[in-house]
Amino acid sequence: MKQQSNNAPIENTLIVGSGLAGCLLAWRLQERGLPFQIVGSTTLPNAWSVAAGLINPVTGKWMTKSWNIDQLIPEVERTYRAIEQALDIEIYHPMPFRRYCQNMEDVKRCGRRSRNPRYANVLSEHVPVGSGPDAIVDTHGSFEIYQASYVDLPILIAALQDHFQQCGRLRDETFVHAELERTPNGWHYKDSEAQRIIFCEGMGIQNNPWFNYLPISPAKGETLILTSDTLELPKTVYHHTKWLLPYKDRSFRIGATYDDNDLSHEPTESGKAELFKHARAFIKPEHKLEVQKHMAGIRPMTKDVRPFLGTHPNEANLHILNGLGSKGASLAPEMTKQLVSHLFDGEQLDPEVDITRFIEQ
Ligand SMILES: Cc1cc2nc3c(=O)[nH]c(=O)nc-3n(C[C@H](O)[C@H](O)[C@H](O)COP(=O)(O)OP(=O)(O)OC[C@H]3O[C@@H](n4cnc5c(N)ncnc54)[C@H](O)[C@@H]3O)c2cc1C
Repeated sequence: MKQQSNNAPIENTLIVGSGLAGCLLAWRLQERGLPFQIVGSTTLPNAWSVAAGLINPVTGKWMTKSWNIDQLIPEVERTYRAIEQALDIEIYHPMPFRRYCQNMEDVKRCGRRSRNPRYANVLSEHVPVGSGPDAIVDTHGSFEIYQASYVDLPILIAALQDHFQQCGRLRDETFVHAELERTPNGWHYKDSEAQRIIFCEGMGIQNNPWFNYLPISPAKGETLILTSDTLELPKTVYHHTKWLLPYKDRSFRIGATYDDNDLSHEPTESGKAELFKHARAFIKPEHKLEVQKHMAGIRPMTKDVRPFLGTHPNEANLHILNGLGSKGASLAPEMTKQLVSHLFDGEQLDPEVDITRFIEQ
């Protein structure tokens, strides 16, 4: 075990992972003027560079409100707008969202939701057939989902990584868990000392000897970037069992597949075929489509569909922020805020996200 050269308290926080969770957490510490270092690889596989960053308040076949969405959205707006301003980037894009009904069952199910007063701020009444753009197949009408947006995660994370690198706070390397050693005052990693470690490794959690007991439930996802010479869609997210997100340069993205068997990081021919088939089913055939890019990543889902926040049961200075699943863009602002308030102000974590829920079981 390494000894400190003097007994001065170490204030430093070491964050492991420079993806969405790690970078936003570091941003929070910087806002508070707290010292930190990040060890994160910009080349290891990750979810953030593949994600569309959609924030959709009403999801799934049953059109249910996403967990805590009314509380999450204000923090989403505050956080991403503040980063946009500070780093002079454009990442947060509120956007209309149109969900097309596939059959009469869908019309009835969505209709019931839209009459529920709890859904008044997120769901319109049924919109009759033919009110969307001509190019999109519309057989049973649609519903508008309010308060939707997308966050350009690749631009956000690249800008934050660059920012932290310029401040000398990001070491672009793979963290080796075996090299982390306990000291009387905290932890020693290679040439640095830290009072606490916060692991934000996404799927890297599987290699983490302290936290790999948590019930992660990974799911691979693939997306396609497409172009068409003839198709120009108004800036709306279109949902037709899969979503379609148009970009400024007239390309658009379709996604995503869901596979919890194949957990390789590589895109597959079957994933591409599935997405292309969906694209063809909702864009009228006169528009020829071309695949520009095909990407794959693994979502760090959890068995109980709630994030992992908190402290290791036996190591008081080892913490975690993970399990953002398929909703990192909406969850990360509030989850990073909550973890920082917990660690530095003694605020309680929401029991639904606190990893002590697994000790009790
Ligand atoms: C196909 C697909 C589509 C998605 N679409 C959406 C969407 O529309 N909306 C949405 O909100 N979310 C979406 N997501 C989910 C979103 O990407 C995740 O919720 C989010 O990225 C999780 O953030 P994270 O920081 O926990 O993990 P990641 O973003 O994966 O970041 C973890 C980082 O830690 C690094 N790391 C891990 N281990 C180590 C180590 N030992 N040393 C150094 N670095 C390490 C990795 O390289 C990575 O950069 C999607 C994901 C996929 C795969």
